[in-house]
Amino acid sequence: MKAFLPFARPEIDEDTIRAVAEVLRSGWITSGPQVQRFESELSGRFGGRPVRTFAHATAALEVAVRLAGVGPGDEVIVPAMSFVASANVVALAGGRPVLVDVDLDSRNTDAARIEAAITPRTKALMPVHFAGLPVDLDPVYALAERRGLRVIEDAAHAMGAEYHGRRIGAQGDLVAFSFHPNKNITTIEGGALSFSNPAEVERAERLRFHGIRKLPGGVMDVLEHAGKSNLADVSAAIGLAQLAKLDRFNARRAELARRYFERLGARPRLRLPAPDRPGHAWHLFAPLIDFDALGTTRERFIEAMHTRGVAAGVHYPAMHLFAAFRRLGYRAGDFPNAETIGARTVTLPLFTQMQDADVDRVCDALSDFLK
Ligand SMILES: *Cc1c(COP(=O)(O)O)cnc(C)c1O
Repeated sequence: MKAFLPFARPEIDEDTIRAVAEVLRSGWITSGPQVQRFESELSGRFGGRPVRTFAHATAALEVAVRLAGVGPGDEVIVPAMSFVASANVVALAGGRPVLVDVDLDSRNTDAARIEAAITPRTKALMPVHFAGLPVDLDPVYALAERRGLRVIEDAAHAMGAEYHGRRIGAQGDLVAFSFHPNKNITTIEGGALSFSNPAEVERAERLRFHGIRKLPGGVMDVLEHAGKSNLADVSAAIGLAQLAKLDRFNARRAELARRYFERLGARPRLRLPAPDRPGHAWHLFAPLIDFDALGTTRERFIEAMHTRGVAAGVHYPAMHLFAAFRRLGYRAGDFPNAETIGARTVTLPLFTQMQDADVDRVCDALSDFLK
């Protein structure tokens, strides 16, 4: 019996484990020198832009939303196909997440869909680089500039992705990354925010630590109410080791994705994601299967794959159909592509230590199911 294939698995080597042990023995385990080093390495990757880390990407997005000045009555435009954190942070700030549809193949939204949703209350746009494929950003930023809007990029899937040859995070306005164990690099839990405006960094540091401003002589003031979402040094040590391997990780992810395309090819009832292209970070490989036409369900598919030793995930149900979003007035039929993706998407195993033969195994199990 071959080992069970999860759909994601972090690669943590012995050097990383040793680095963590060193931090644990050092006597300083929460935010300290490792966090500073990790932030400066991230900044180096992003063309010298300031970068600050957080306990998770959700916190980085919450801080970005506050920096953008989003409050009660304000609207932020968010794709209906994303992880729910993208929209939750807007609602948590008292704003309204204004959802828009996405493209069936790229799973990304675009400037035209965003523009159609702009109102006088719109404060910010939140493009999401779905599965690591960058959104076509130039028209989005041109639109934001024309309308005087902030842009918060949810780049949780896009660590290592590039748009027009430049790294996501090295350009744009506020760009948030996730280091959750399923993402392209991990710190266990963790996130980061890359800033366009260095003048906003100090406030972001306060927003991740109780609103505190340190004054000379060990005195402090609290300038505004804020939560606590700093990253620990133990996590940053993992992040430093992971960051050094990011390019190799993503190269392997792209190889595996290309093998999926080769092995699966064009088949009825199966819709492959937008093809590989330079700058794609391949966070997920998630085709759509027309379960209705096959006379079956996704639950049965997931079960059938399980019996073949293969996990399949769902990223994600369409956001507007969740109870909390129906209460905002959203209904079935509002975003047909997000609904189709939400109903038909299956995430196949994709992680750095997968072998080519593992891809073949997944494709064989999938092919048998489609017959
Ligand atoms: C994972 C994810 C987040 C949240 O990341 P955390 O680090 O778990 O808070 C936000 N947006 C998207 C699109 C994600 O996939």
